[in-house]
Amino acid sequence: MSINDSIEQLVSDQRRFFKSGVTRDIHFRMEQLNKLKTALIAKEDEIIKALQQDLNKSEQESFTTEIGIVYKELSYVMKNLHKWAKPRRVKTALTHIGSRGEIHPEPYGTVLIISPWNYPWQLAISPLIGAIAAGNTAIIKPSELTPSVSALITSMIKDTFSDQYVAVVEGGPDTSTSLLKQPLDYIFFTGSTNIGKVVMQAAAKNLIPITLELGGKSPCIVHKDAPLKLAARRIVFGKFTNAGQTCVAPDYLLVHESIKEPLLKHMKEAITEFYGDSPLMNSEYGRIVSEKHFLRLSNFLSNGSLRHGGKCDASKLLIEPTLLDDITWEMPVMEDEIFGPIFPILTYDHLDEVITSVNNRPKPLALYLFTQDSQVQRKVLSEVSFGGGCVNDTLMHLATPHLPFGGVGESGMGSYHGKHSFETFSHMKSILRQTNKFDFSFRYPGKEGLKLLRRLMKP
Ligand code: NAD
Repeated sequence: MSINDSIEQLVSDQRRFFKSGVTRDIHFRMEQLNKLKTALIAKEDEIIKALQQDLNKSEQESFTTEIGIVYKELSYVMKNLHKWAKPRRVKTALTHIGSRGEIHPEPYGTVLIISPWNYPWQLAISPLIGAIAAGNTAIIKPSELTPSVSALITSMIKDTFSDQYVAVVEGGPDTSTSLLKQPLDYIFFTGSTNIGKVVMQAAAKNLIPITLELGGKSPCIVHKDAPLKLAARRIVFGKFTNAGQTCVAPDYLLVHESIKEPLLKHMKEAITEFYGDSPLMNSEYGRIVSEKHFLRLSNFLSNGSLRHGGKCDASKLLIEPTLLDDITWEMPVMEDEIFGPIFPILTYDHLDEVITSVNNRPKPLALYLFTQDSQVQRKVLSEVSFGGGCVNDTLMHLATPHLPFGGVGESGMGSYHGKHSFETFSHMKSILRQTNKFDFSFRYPGKEGLKLLRRLMKP
């Protein structure tokens, strides 16, 4: 059987299974989430090993950014699922007296989850939790660039679920393309903005609803009143975790001219504290995923002037945490998302310059603002559009199931995590239950009804 035929067969089997109605039952969903929980716990050591093989992630980083975050998401969803899945009553309009309005969440059907390589475990399993919770069947297409993690996802899912319910299809762009041609009911894509456009075009052919979790250049703004040592530690953490290969990593620094030097000093200290004097020798420092990305990133090292780091080890695909000063917007490093451990530094005198510069570019996935001045906070938050972010921190907004996580404009559409995942993978069906006890005649043709309707409806 060709890959196309087997994909077609798989989708058809999942659609049939969905139509049987089994996945709609809330007890079934809870049972499956429980099975997933048991499987995740059992695989913990193997996950750490696979992440180390594919990306040289340390145990600490793997637990916090891939395993722990998924546990937290799963526990939160399991705790609240009964409540979210119930039909809920809404208010009745004056024109609808006697009736009852309700919202019934219902699963879409068969959903496709396409995930990237940078957090290959979290970004495949976290959407799956939402898909299962909402009562769908699911197919995961993990990244071909992280073969150990993808193989582990395949074996875990195979051991836990039947193919007709949850399946994994491994492969690269060709496999994705075949999957995207299928009569799916929802597509959840995490990856680059360019491929996001390809996915959206494919989805449009069959009018399949989608979520796009994309990337972009996320600014990190440090205003003159920020507590510099603390800001430096939090920025260095956000930028160099996973060697900068984080969708919401601060992409570039916009620092008030007056505090640039002290901030740089604290950032250098934090880099040394976290990764040692020779990060290339640190066995726990993340590596670049592929030679292609390593070469792309190395080319940026000649931009501006080097203030810290800059050394590489091509044989191990390592690049030191690097700070680049004297950067201008026209340099190659400022064109696209960097997605690596290279941090360009730009300065500003007036906040308005920052706002204009950021607003002149595609809407970023994240924005980080370091200031204690509530007026500055209000101004930036109200005048700049971006997916989400933090005031006085980095990355942490995505690590809570209470906040919706997603982009806007070129950084994506839709959101997930916690209740928002459940809602993303559910269609909200509106139902009006009408009374048969009486029947107002004003809706029917005739002048009398029109008069009353005008009185009731005119603003
Ligand atoms: P990518 O877009 O190259 O690939 C993502 C997935 O799409 C992979 O599974 C890949 O096999 C598949 N794919 C590749 N070409 C395809 C095609 N022509 N048609 C259909 N599918 C195709 O992204 P990547 O390099 O794996 O990940 C890095 C990007 O993902 C960065 O831009 C980053 O910002 C973004 N990202 C976003 C988030 C988020 O939550 N918003 C999270 C992580 C990464």
